[in-house]
Amino acid sequence: MFNQRKTSTLLKEMSFERFGGTAEELKAAKLIQDALSKLKLKTKLESFPVQMGKIKKAKLEVIEPVKMEIECTAYMCCANTPAKGIEAEFYYYEQVNDVNCKQAKNKICLVNGYVNKKLYKEFVKAGALALISFNGNIDFPDAYDLDCREMRPTLSEIKALPAVNILVKDAMKLIEMNVTKVKMTTIQDITTAKSHNVICDIKGSDSNDVIVLTAHYDSVRFSKGAYDNATGSVCLYALADYFSKNQPKHNLRFIWCGSEERGLLGSKAYVEKHKKELDDIKLCINIDMIGSTLGKRIAVCTADMSLVHCIDYLGKVVGFPISASQDVYSSDSTPFADVDIPALSFARITPSGAGDIHHRYDVLEHLSDKYLFEDINFILEFTKRMATAYIIPVPRSIPQNMKDAIDAYFAREKEVKK
Ligand SMILES: [Zn+2]
Repeated sequence: MFNQRKTSTLLKEMSFERFGGTAEELKAAKLIQDALSKLKLKTKLESFPVQMGKIKKAKLEVIEPVKMEIECTAYMCCANTPAKGIEAEFYYYEQVNDVNCKQAKNKICLVNGYVNKKLYKEFVKAGALALISFNGNIDFPDAYDLDCREMRPTLSEIKALPAVNILVKDAMKLIEMNVTKVKMTTIQDITTAKSHNVICDIKGSDSNDVIVLTAHYDSVRFSKGAYDNATGSVCLYALADYFSKNQPKHNLRFIWCGSEERGLLGSKAYVEKHKKELDDIKLCINIDMIGSTLGKRIAVCTADMSLVHCIDYLGKVVGFPISASQDVYSSDSTPFADVDIPALSFARITPSGAGDIHHRYDVLEHLSDKYLFEDINFILEFTKRMATAYIIPVPRSIPQNMKDAIDAYFAREKEVKK
């Protein structure tokens, strides 16, 4: 079927921090290329630009009621403050709300948790001066690193503000101390680096149709990304191994996507660069996080309901417990669905506390070869049926409810809709 030992070895080799646009990410790309060349498969790297920021100074000081410094990191690619920093009233902007917005004007504001586009847009509109976010867990302070966050282009195109991230214990301290005035300094050089998609084609015996198989191989910072998503990356490798020895009818294009964790940048870049060739692509199969010791199998289909039923039936036919649904999955399947290519993502989702993603505990020790191979076998079973189908049976369109869900996912306004 596929070489389990080699799949397992590649998983171990790939488990290191590989943030999009860094030399480590490129090292992981080369590992994938090496593994494929041993299968006598040709690969190519397609680069795309990503923004990077070299942080020179990040400082957050409480000015009133007492003077003290709070440990912080600057958002990569946020706005620079003047060298001496900006000093302003401090305000706790709890949520997007008319009262919060009215009170945020000209203040340096603490916001809750993760900053999405919707929150940021209202935050800028309210006239806030600068942003403080936080991460961590108040009860397990040692389990979390202070995140280095990024002001993505989707936010900075609204307007770049100075922004820092702090730990939740310090956020709580700011509120408990009734802080009224703070000073923030963020200075960095913004540059452009290259991230890469790794591409490998297996030609079909008798078809112009293409099935795209995707998995992101980058990780977030401070994470080895074993589960998210070295597992999906090695699943693609295992499928390539199988189909290199068993020629499919339809053409298969494997894409290991870079910089997914930075906003699906690899798959977005692919879709943009290959605009003219998208008509031939009839289906996108994406894998993002499988093989965890504890977990449950899901397939999220951004496609016609018949695909949901198809996977549901296949699970029952082969005795594989998987729950299929029609929805948008936050991964590289979505940019394909956004250009009307039916797309689905396979995953084995961990229950809370049994191997969370996006921090330093995303490690090999929480994964199981048994479940990894079972997951790959099922995904292979499904892919075989599609790759050898007389006709690829999934309707080549995206239903309106999914189009709306994609617009909501990308926080697009109705009037700017394509
Ligand atoms: Zn992922």
